[in-house]
Amino acid sequence: MVDIAENLAQVQQRISAACERSDRSTEEVQLVAVGKKFTAQVIREAADCGLNLFGENRVQEAKIKIPDCPGHLRWHFIGNLQTNKCKDAVALFDMLHAVDSLHLAEELNKRCEQLAKVMPVLLEVNVSGEGSKHGFTPEQAIEVTQAFFDFPKLELHGLMTMAPFSRQAESARPYFRKLRELKSDCEKKLGAPLPELSMGMSGDYEIAIEEGATLIRLGTTLFGPRSQANKD
Ligand SMILES: *Cc1c(COP(=O)(O)O)cnc(C)c1O
Repeated sequence: MVDIAENLAQVQQRISAACERSDRSTEEVQLVAVGKKFTAQVIREAADCGLNLFGENRVQEAKIKIPDCPGHLRWHFIGNLQTNKCKDAVALFDMLHAVDSLHLAEELNKRCEQLAKVMPVLLEVNVSGEGSKHGFTPEQAIEVTQAFFDFPKLELHGLMTMAPFSRQAESARPYFRKLRELKSDCEKKLGAPLPELSMGMSGDYEIAIEEGATLIRLGTTLFGPRSQANKD
């Protein structure tokens, strides 16, 4: 059995230490607990430990799980969305981290209009240029920021990325730094601040914090390997 409380205590210590090293306040960093593949029961345990912001990457799974979880929890969608899932996603989630096309943004805006809801969104940027990754190129990201003025129901809050997989956390640093610099470029183009940088997962979140992350997305380090989900 995974001890979520114990894991969370360790994560919180590491967040504090990373904030201290980079002269930041821990209040600037929000922990998104990624409970994908884990049951509502596990989420409820995590909520009992004081976690209240959760991330999911499958609309179907979230649709079943969220109604079984405490009503005070907030939910972020961190995966890539297909347009046929936008209606449910807009109804279920409080923020969407990985908007990766204007076509998707247009569909989301339409669905938000139908629900009279304003949705905070982040642009996913493929900073590494890996073919397997979704997202705008850095150049496209700067270009499309202004297009969000055409989507009155979407609020552009910032950028999101995933660093290439590596066993060495430090190797993610250049990608996170690049996302932070890109955020400034987007802010200049937009003439408005973008508060959020969603970057950092279980293997590299301390580096992400040092480079300015405001949202870190942690699964394995809190809940254990997903291969063990549903096995208790
Ligand atoms: C699964 C997932 C995470 C969490 O990954 P861990 O390595 O388990 O912390 C973070 N971000 C996204 C987009 C994910 O899909």
